Amino acid sequence: MAATDKLVVKTRQILAHFSDALWVVENPATSLMWMREASGGLGADSVVTSYCCWGTLFRKDTRLANNFGLSLPRCPGAPTCPAMIGQRHVEWSQRGCGGAVPRFKTRHELHAIPAPLVEEIERQLTVALAARTGSRESGPSPEPR
Ligand SMILES: [Zn+2]
Repeated sequence: MAATDKLVVKTRQILAHFSDALWVVENPATSLMWMREASGGLGADSVVTSYCCWGTLFRKDTRLANNFGLSLPRCPGAPTCPAMIGQRHVEWSQRGCGGAVPRFKTRHELHAIPAPLVEEIERQLTVALAARTGSRESGPSPEPR
């Protein structure tokens, strides 16, 4: 945990150095990092979202600490989640097994943040930045989802 703590402390130092910047820090929702003293309450302003809300067939909850009021959905569960068959997600966020339709997944598939999630964060960041600067003409127009 010492190496992890050093990384978190460095992250907090970077955020403090760029104190005027808007930022997002991602780590799995169940990570112990959020509870460690080294986090310094980094996760106090955060949102948890589920990868299945962003196109994956498995649920993986991730926490995104941020300083601009990021708002994201979390898996609504059955029967609303489109990644579920009955009471189970189609896949589990494990490499080789689990879920209604087990399939081997690469480490990259499991760890990569879904592109639609990144695009939504960028959209909300653009809106927050425009609101902060008072100029909606400085960036791209947000697309309705
Ligand atoms: Zn789901």
